[in-house]
Amino acid sequence: MRFPFALTKKIASHIIKHKLRKTPKFAMVLQLEPLHTCNLTCTGCGRIREYSTSLKDMVPLEQCLAAAMECEAPMVSICGGEPLIYPKIEELVAGLLGQGRVIYICTNGMFMRKKMRDYLAAIYSPALEPKLKQLLDGKLITDKEAEVIRKSDDAAKKKIVIRPTQWMYWNVHVDGLEFTHDLIVEREGVFKECVEAIKMAKICGYQVATNTTVYRETDVTEIEDMFKYLSSLEVDGHTISPGYDYDAAKKDMVSRLGRDPKEFFLTRDMTRAKFAKIQDWGKAFTIFGTPVYQEFLAGKRELTCTAWAIPTYNVKGWKAPCYLMTDGHYSGYQEMLTKVNWEKYGVVNGVARDPRCEHCMVHCGYDPSGALGTNYQRGDNWKNFKYNFGSKPKPFPASPELEKRAYNGATIGKGHLAEAKAIINSPAAGARGAFSHKEEPHQHEEHVGSFCGSEGAASEKNDLLAKIAANKKTE
Ligand code: SF4
Ligand code: SF4
Repeated sequence: MRFPFALTKKIASHIIKHKLRKTPKFAMVLQLEPLHTCNLTCTGCGRIREYSTSLKDMVPLEQCLAAAMECEAPMVSICGGEPLIYPKIEELVAGLLGQGRVIYICTNGMFMRKKMRDYLAAIYSPALEPKLKQLLDGKLITDKEAEVIRKSDDAAKKKIVIRPTQWMYWNVHVDGLEFTHDLIVEREGVFKECVEAIKMAKICGYQVATNTTVYRETDVTEIEDMFKYLSSLEVDGHTISPGYDYDAAKKDMVSRLGRDPKEFFLTRDMTRAKFAKIQDWGKAFTIFGTPVYQEFLAGKRELTCTAWAIPTYNVKGWKAPCYLMTDGHYSGYQEMLTKVNWEKYGVVNGVARDPRCEHCMVHCGYDPSGALGTNYQRGDNWKNFKYNFGSKPKPFPASPELEKRAYNGATIGKGHLAEAKAIINSPAAGARGAFSHKEEPHQHEEHVGSFCGSEGAASEKNDLLAKIAANKKTE
C-alpha cells in the first residue's frame, strides 16, 4: 500500500463518520503552532514575520492538548516556528499520541539528531550496539555522542523521548537540493544536516516525510532530482505545495532584501506550469495529497477552498480564515467555524472572492477539498481509493552520481544571503547592496553554526563571493 493501512483507515473513518452525521464543517488536520521562535530566518517564511512581536510566547502544553481535543482532527501537524525548540515537545508528542492522533513534526531538521540521541540513550542496552555502529560508520553520531548514549544514567532512561511509532512522522522541510535549500533557508549547511537527520531517523526506525514549497525560481528538474534523492534515502512520503505570498513575507522581502516579491512567488498560471507533471511524480514517488488535488495543481480542474478543514491554533488562538491569511483569532474552533463568513474566501470558477486568495493553490486550502469531495466528479472516490491502496513506489536507486547532483556544489548560503545569486548576475550591484540587510528578530543562542553577520563576516562574505563565482564558472 502507498500509505500505511492503519493511517488510511483512521482518516477514512473520520470522514465517513462526519459524512454520516452530515457535519457541515469539520477538522481533518490541526496545524498546531506551540511557538513561533525559530533558529532560521528563511526567505518567504510568513510565520516568523507575522508573529515577530510574539516570538517568545508559547502555548502551554495543556492548552495545546485541549486544542487537539476540541477540534478532534485525526492528524496534528506540529509546526511553528521550530517545534523542536518547544521545551515540552516530548510531552506534547506523547500527549497527542495518547489521544490517538497521527502526528507530523514539521521541522527544519537542525535539532532532530539531538532528539534521536535522547531516544537512543533512553533505550540503551548492549543490544543497541549494531545500530550505534551503523550510525558511527555513517558519521551520523560522533564517538563522544555514542559514549554519552552508552553511559546513559537513570535520568536519561526516564526522560520522555520521541520514539518511533507508526503514528508519527518527522516532516522535514526541504525546498530543493543543497544550493537552493541553503539559499532559501539563508544558512550554509542546513541541507546537509537535514540529510544526515533523515539517514539517522531511518536507521533508528522512524517514519520520515518531507515538505517542499515551490517558488517562482524553483527549477522543476531540480524538484525531480530532489524527489529521486529523498526516495533513495527511503523517505516515506512528500508534501509539495506552491508558495503563498504572505503579506508579511512580501514586506520583509522589500525591506530586508530589497527585492520585488513578484520575483519570488507564483501566480496561478505559473503554479499550473510548475506542477504540470505532478501526476507523474505521484506515480514515481510517495506524494502525500489526493490525486484530485494533484489534478487541481496541474490545472486540470477547479476546487473550492476548504481552509476550515486544516485549522491553525497558536499563541493568539484559532487563526482565521486559514494557515496563510489572518483576519482574526478566535478562542474556540466551533466559534471560528460559526463566526467566519467562509463564503468570502477562495477562488470559485476562476474568480477570487478575496484578492488575497487569487494565486493561492496551497495544500492547506485545497488538499482537503479533494478528500472531502467538495467539487465531486464521477470517479473521484475510485481515484482516491486506487491511489491510497495502490502499491508504494520503490525507492529510487542510490548512486554516487545522484549524490553529486544533490550536493550541487554550493554551500553558499552563509548568513542571510538570499541575494547571493544576484551578485553574480549583477556585478554592478556589488556585495554592498546584496549584503546590506536588516537583522531580523530571532534567538541567536539557538543558532546551529555560528555565523550570523557577526565577527569575521566581511572575510567570510568575500570567501563566499569567490565560491559563488567559482561555482558559476563551472555551471
Ligand atoms: S524553518 Fe524557516 S520556514 Fe520554518 S518556521 Fe523557521 S524560518 Fe519559517
Ligand atoms: S484560498 Fe483559502 S487557503 Fe488560500 S489564502 Fe484564501 S482562504 Fe486561505
